[in-house]
Amino acid sequence: MTKKRLYLGLSAASMLLLAGVIVYIWLTFSRQDLGVLRYISFLAVCVVLLALIVVVLGYAGIMFSLLADKDIKIFKKPITFTLSLLYPVVLWIGKLFRITQDKIQRSFVEVNNQLVQARQGQIPADRLLILLPHCLQVADCARRVTIDTNNCVRCGRCDIGRILDLCNRYGTHLCIATGGTIARDAVKKLRPKAIVAVACERDLTSGILDCIPLPVLGVTNERPHGPCFNTQVNIEAVEKAILFFTQGGKVNGIFT
Ligand code: SF4
Repeated sequence: MTKKRLYLGLSAASMLLLAGVIVYIWLTFSRQDLGVLRYISFLAVCVVLLALIVVVLGYAGIMFSLLADKDIKIFKKPITFTLSLLYPVVLWIGKLFRITQDKIQRSFVEVNNQLVQARQGQIPADRLLILLPHCLQVADCARRVTIDTNNCVRCGRCDIGRILDLCNRYGTHLCIATGGTIARDAVKKLRPKAIVAVACERDLTSGILDCIPLPVLGVTNERPHGPCFNTQVNIEAVEKAILFFTQGGKVNGIFT
């Protein structure tokens, strides 16, 4: 819960900020002498208030799902709305407190992973997509694995071959993406019911938000040589994420 607390705390602060915006608009523009502006401000207050009510519901849903480890259907849409709407506000508040984006994104991925794990039901392996970043391939490998994963000869120098073995064993789809556009195209083309994504915190966060409400389990890559270069991944974590979707069962705490 420690890492999750950061995102949850900043989300609570974002809700307070929204409430503050409502009070500010109301106090500033509700005076009689402002004429038509008064009606516009009333409309603005109604819109922000409505958004705040849904966000509070979504936040309650997130807390309930995390604490009870259960997925409640009526909270699904408010949770989706809350995650998408609050994220930029959370980043902005984090910046005010000099909290790095990396920390916030890591916390966001943890919250997301636990929410995904609270869901029930299995997904057929052929409706599961494994998304990998191109930087997992060692930089001096000439094999064009992004064009066709079969070009990998599984020489063992990087984790691509090991994940290909996993995908063959379980019968899942695999896409090695050089960027967000290719990843989005793969999702559009394959129409998966769930995704296991490997990436850095930043790309995982944007991918998760892009795919919402599709369940995405994020596995953070390891970067012993710095960002975007010869990265690695915990193969056991990827396998557990595949098994979670295809066979069900809890695999808490293994992904990041
Ligand atoms: S396992 Fe070997 S052949 Fe496959 S991508 Fe990695 S370095 Fe290239």
